[in-house]
Amino acid sequence: MPSPRLSFVLGFTAVLSFGPCLLQAQPGQIQTPSQFLGFTVGADRALADYGQIASYFDALAKSSKRIEVEHLGPTTQGRDLFAAVISSEENIKNKKMFQDIARRLADPRGLTPGEIEDLVSRGKAIVFVTCNSHSTEIGATQMFMEWAHDLVTARDAETLRRLNDVILVLIPSLNPDGQHMVVDWYRKYLGTKYEGGRMPWLYHPYVGHDNNRDWYMLTQKETQAVNRAAYHTWYPQVWLDEHQMGSTGPRLFVPPHTNPVALNVHPLVWRTVDNIGTLMAWRLEEQRKSGVVYGAMYDTYWPGGGEGTACWKNVCGLLTEAASTQMGTPVEIVPGELRGDTKGLIEYTQQANFPNPWPGGVWRVRDIMDYERTASDALLEACADHRAEILRGAASMALDAVKLGSPDVFYRIALDQRDPHSAAHLAHLLRENGAEVLFHEPEHAFYVPTAQPMARFVNEMLGVQRYPEVKHVPGPDIVPPYDVTAWSLPLMMGVTVEKVTRSKDERSTLRPVNGTDLPQGSVVNPDAGQFIISHERNAVSRLVNDVVKQEGSVSLTAADLKVDGEEFVKGAVLLEKVKDPAAIANTYGLQLVGVRETVAIPVEKLQRFRLGMYKPWTGSMDEGWTRWLLEQYKFPLQSINTKEMKEKKLGASFDVIVLPDISKDVIVDGKRKAEEGESKYFVDLPPEYSGGIGKEGVKNLKEFVEQGGTLVAMASACDYVIDEFNIPVVNALARSRRDEFNCPGSLIRAYVDSTHPVAYGMPQEIAAFVNQRMAFRTVPPAADVTRRVLVWYPDDEKDMLVSGWIAGAEKLERRAAAVAFTQGKGKIVLFGFRIQQRAQTESTFKLLFNAIHWGAMKSR
Ligand SMILES: [Zn+2]
Repeated sequence: MPSPRLSFVLGFTAVLSFGPCLLQAQPGQIQTPSQFLGFTVGADRALADYGQIASYFDALAKSSKRIEVEHLGPTTQGRDLFAAVISSEENIKNKKMFQDIARRLADPRGLTPGEIEDLVSRGKAIVFVTCNSHSTEIGATQMFMEWAHDLVTARDAETLRRLNDVILVLIPSLNPDGQHMVVDWYRKYLGTKYEGGRMPWLYHPYVGHDNNRDWYMLTQKETQAVNRAAYHTWYPQVWLDEHQMGSTGPRLFVPPHTNPVALNVHPLVWRTVDNIGTLMAWRLEEQRKSGVVYGAMYDTYWPGGGEGTACWKNVCGLLTEAASTQMGTPVEIVPGELRGDTKGLIEYTQQANFPNPWPGGVWRVRDIMDYERTASDALLEACADHRAEILRGAASMALDAVKLGSPDVFYRIALDQRDPHSAAHLAHLLRENGAEVLFHEPEHAFYVPTAQPMARFVNEMLGVQRYPEVKHVPGPDIVPPYDVTAWSLPLMMGVTVEKVTRSKDERSTLRPVNGTDLPQGSVVNPDAGQFIISHERNAVSRLVNDVVKQEGSVSLTAADLKVDGEEFVKGAVLLEKVKDPAAIANTYGLQLVGVRETVAIPVEKLQRFRLGMYKPWTGSMDEGWTRWLLEQYKFPLQSINTKEMKEKKLGASFDVIVLPDISKDVIVDGKRKAEEGESKYFVDLPPEYSGGIGKEGVKNLKEFVEQGGTLVAMASACDYVIDEFNIPVVNALARSRRDEFNCPGSLIRAYVDSTHPVAYGMPQEIAAFVNQRMAFRTVPPAADVTRRVLVWYPDDEKDMLVSGWIAGAEKLERRAAAVAFTQGKGKIVLFGFRIQQRAQTESTFKLLFNAIHWGAMKSR
C-alpha cells in the first residue's frame, strides 16, 4: 500500500484499495480517517496507533487551512506531542492575535471596562480538548480524527458559525508513549485469551495512571509541554478532558460534578461547566443515547488532571468519563452486572441525575466514540453560543481573584533558607503554572503577589487544606475523599513561605522572576585540600552520587564539627582531594567550606554502591515515580523484575534494594487481594509476566540481607518485610478497618531523630504524607539486632493533622513512622509514610536518599 501521506487527496495519486465498507473520497475531497488509514476506524478490534493518528492530522493540516498542527515538545520516549488547532480559516490565520486577546482577558489588570468589552467582542473562545492521559482509555483518540475531519470539511452554516466563534485546541493524546504501548500490546495479543487485557507495565514510562496527578507539580515532560501551551501560549477559557471509567456503571459521565466542591474555585467556573455539561446530556438524550449520568462519582475537590487544576486558574474545566470496552474488543454486560455503588449513584436505577439507565448489552469502542462525539459537539456548540459570556467571565473571574489579595501583601520565599533549591523550585513552579512571581535581587527572595489573577491557585498551593465534611444524608457519614486531601506545597517541599507587606516604594524594587534566579554556589577557603558541606539540601545527595561514581573520596561526619566558627552537625559531607571546588559549588549550587586542619572526628566513608529496585509485572506507579526521582538525583539504579528477584544472586549484584510501595500480595503472588465483597476473579497476564516473587524471592531477599545488603521498604511493602523477616516491629494498624482509621493522603506532624545516618540533614519536625494504614510499634530486640526509631508521630491526636483530613488520628499516637534495623551485617529500613509521594514531598526525599547511602557506608 502506498504511503497514506502521499495519497491523501484522492484524484492526485493512485487510488487506494479499501475494504468494502469504506466510501472513497471524491476527487479533491479530504479523506476520512478510515479512507486514509485503510481500515474502518472505530470498528471492532481495529485501533489506530499514535503514529497513524499523527500522520492523519499532519495530512489534514496539509489539505485544509482550518487546521494547524502545533508541536508541543518531545515525550518521555521522544515522540512528538502535538496539538491540532481547528477553527475558521480566518481565525487560524490570526491565531497570534487571538492568543493575545485571550492572554489579556486572563490578566485584565489595568484595562478599563470598555477595553475589556472591546476584547470580548473581538476575541474567540479558546477551548482545549484533551484525552487519553490514561492510555487504555482509547476511544477519544480514534474519535478525534473523525471530529477533526468533519470540522475541517463542513460546509453547513451552523458548523461554520461555531468555527468562527471558537478556536479548538485538540490534543489527541496527552500520553503518546502510552497510546503506542497499549495499541502495540493489543495488536500482539489479538485473537488470544489475553486479547484486550492489561499490560504488565505502566502506560506512562514513569508514572502510569498518575499522569493526571502531576498537573500542579509538573514533573513529567508531557505535563510540562501541555501546561506551557495552556498558560504561556493559548490561555484557554474552557478545557474538556475525556476519560473512560469501568464497564459496569453508566455509559457516560458529564458535568455537573458531585460533592465535595473545591472551596477556592470561582463559582462562575462551576456554573459555566454545569451549563455546558447539561447541554451535552441534552444532546445525548435527543439522540437516544441512554445511560448518561451527572452529579455522581466525580467531585471537584482535588486538583488532579489538567482540566481539574485549570479550575483554580479561572478556566472552566470539564471531565467526561465513558464506560470502557477492552480496548478495541467489545464487552457484553448483562443487566445483573450493572451497578451504582458510588457517591451520587448508590443504586443503578432511574433517578434525577440518571433519568435513562442503559439496560445492558454489547458495548463497543464505536459506542464510546459516538457518545464522546456528541458530547464534544455540544461543547463546541455551547462555547460558540456563549462565546461572549465565556470571555467576559474569564476577565471578571480574574479581576475577582485580584481582589482576594492586596497589592501590598506578598508571599515571600527567601532563597536563604534550609534548602534554597526547594525554595527556588517552588517559586519557579508557580511561575510555570502561570502565576505572577517577582524577584528582589538584594534580598535574594521571590515575591508572589496575593493580588493577581492566579490568586486562587496560589492560595490553594501555598495554604493548608481542610477537607469539607459534606454529607449526602443526615447522619455521621461524610462523602469520602476521591483521592488525596493535601497538596500544601510549602509543607510538602519543606519551604518556608511568609506573608509580608511591602510599601509602594519597596514594591518598585521588584522585577519579574527569570530563569537564572537560582541558588548560587560559593566556596570558603578555596585553597584548602578538603571541603565540608552541610547535609540539609537535597542537592547534596546528587553531588554525593556524582563523586562516588567518579571514585572520588566522600565521607559523612559522625560527630558535630566546627569549621572557622561555623557549626556543621553530624552527617555533613566531607570531600577530599577536590581539584576544582568552584566548579562543584557552581554545578550543584552549594556552599563548600574548605577545612584547613586535619579532621579529628570520626567519619564514615561512602563506597561505590549498586542499587536495585523491584519492578513488579503489575506495573507499580510508586516504582515509576521512585525510579524517576532516583534518576533525577543520579542514583545508579537498576530495575529488578520478578524473575530476577527469584533467580538472580541478589547479594552478588546489589548493595541496596528498594521495595517501592507495593502490597504484600502483589509482591508474593503478583495479584492484589480482593477486598471483602469484591470478586476474587483475576484476569491472567501472559505466563512470562504472571506471578510474584513467591517463596524463592523471599529466600533470596533474606540471603541478601544476611550477606550484608540493605533493604529499604516503602509504605505497604513494609507489611511484606514485617511478615517475612524476623524483625522486632509490628504494623499497629494492620488490622484496623477503614471506619476506624482513614487517612487518604494528608500531612501529619512527625518528629525526626536526625542523628541517625538515614535522617542526616533532616529538620526535627516534618509534615509526613500519610495515605495508608501503617504505623509501627517496635519491641525490644535480641543482642544481634538493633532497632532505631527514626520518625515518630505526636503523643496527642490533637497535634496530628497539619493539612488534609484524617479519621482515627488517635491510632497514630506514640507510633513510629520510620524505623531502621541492623541484623548481623545487614540493614533494613521501613518507611510507613510516603517519603516520596508522586515526586512532590521534597521535604522527605532525603530519607530515601540517605537510606540508600546508609547501605554504602563503611566506618573507618
Ligand atoms: Zn482516566
